[in-house]
Amino acid sequence: MTSGHYFAELPISRAYERIDALLAAGDPVLLDGGVATELQQVQSEDRARRREPWGTWTLFQGPVEVLEVHRRYVDAGCDVISTNTWSVLEAADEAASGPQPSSRNTLWLEAARLGMRLARQAIEEAGRAGETAAAFCINSSLLDKRATGRLELLSWLWHDEPPDLVILETLESIPDDVSLNAIEMVCDTGLPVWVSFRRAREGMCSIDGDVRPDPSPEAFRASLEKLEQMGVRAVSVNCVPSDRVPDTIEYLRSQTSLPVGGYPNLGHSAGARWEFDTSIGVSEYARMASSWVDAGALIVGGCCGVTAKHLAGVRTALNEAAPGTYPTSWFAMVSPGGTSPAITEKLSRDVVHALHAPNVQSKFQTMLLRTVASSPEETKAFLQRETALWRDVIKTNGIALH
Ligand SMILES: [Zn+2]
Repeated sequence: MTSGHYFAELPISRAYERIDALLAAGDPVLLDGGVATELQQVQSEDRARRREPWGTWTLFQGPVEVLEVHRRYVDAGCDVISTNTWSVLEAADEAASGPQPSSRNTLWLEAARLGMRLARQAIEEAGRAGETAAAFCINSSLLDKRATGRLELLSWLWHDEPPDLVILETLESIPDDVSLNAIEMVCDTGLPVWVSFRRAREGMCSIDGDVRPDPSPEAFRASLEKLEQMGVRAVSVNCVPSDRVPDTIEYLRSQTSLPVGGYPNLGHSAGARWEFDTSIGVSEYARMASSWVDAGALIVGGCCGVTAKHLAGVRTALNEAAPGTYPTSWFAMVSPGGTSPAITEKLSRDVVHALHAPNVQSKFQTMLLRTVASSPEETKAFLQRETALWRDVIKTNGIALH
């Protein structure tokens, strides 16, 4: 769909470039846990009882509490934190059918704007601007015609308050043409888009893990192909019981070449409240998340009932398990920004030629140096991977120059 193009495409942010480099290097990206359910932990019991945990209106009722939830996830070492806007499309529905439609009509957009600002604030306070990414989150279980118009309004908002990515999540059915159009519209903003499904191998899945088998074996794969064509950057399974995740990760990997992820729920929905499952503690959850990474997940995190403490445990486990992190030293040549590609190309060719000259090679061998001779593109990708890797090591350990 192209009718939504009233603006130039939004650029990819520095924080997302970092995420992209991690994914490209095969390093897992840590998403946050349930935002709405963590609010239940932050709020006093009395206040929490009076609120719908999933309501976007909570942004107005308790912005400081929402900010505190984001702070917890940033402190836990999450690479991506998500806005408390999961039910923003529902809020738009409520606003439209409220007693004073004219005044409430755009209030949900203001809530969305506030949601974006609070996520940014938590990142900036922690000194993680340009590193931790803020994802605008939307429950996309119902992407009907009305949703299309609302997503268009949101895309206007994103030009003022751009998220680093958009996560369309908790899809409960295989997207039809209307849903696909809506998703494509979000992709057309230029923002990176991740799509997450309540999914098992045999079909779509409920919050409690009940599976509805697919109408045809190829139906889901075909929709994944369309998502990939329209530029979706990752697909995940979310908000299903954790024991569903390993098999669904394996299944998703067999169906798409996109990076895949898993972030399940822990516990049960009890009306307007969430009942936490305390039987799966921090170390057990970390062990499970590591096993999803071993199964090929590149994005791990949690949904409803997964707390900041769980995520901090996963961060530690991932850091300890970081594959292939052995320090080496290397040399690369760089030219000043703005050097013409033709000159870079010629320099690269000549340097590679010189590196392979027999007398240079024999000298390198005595110095125990190995020649790689990468192309400019390979060097750029390598530098991005190294930057992503060492930035975290330096930050986490507070390493300074002496
Ligand atoms: Zn959830």
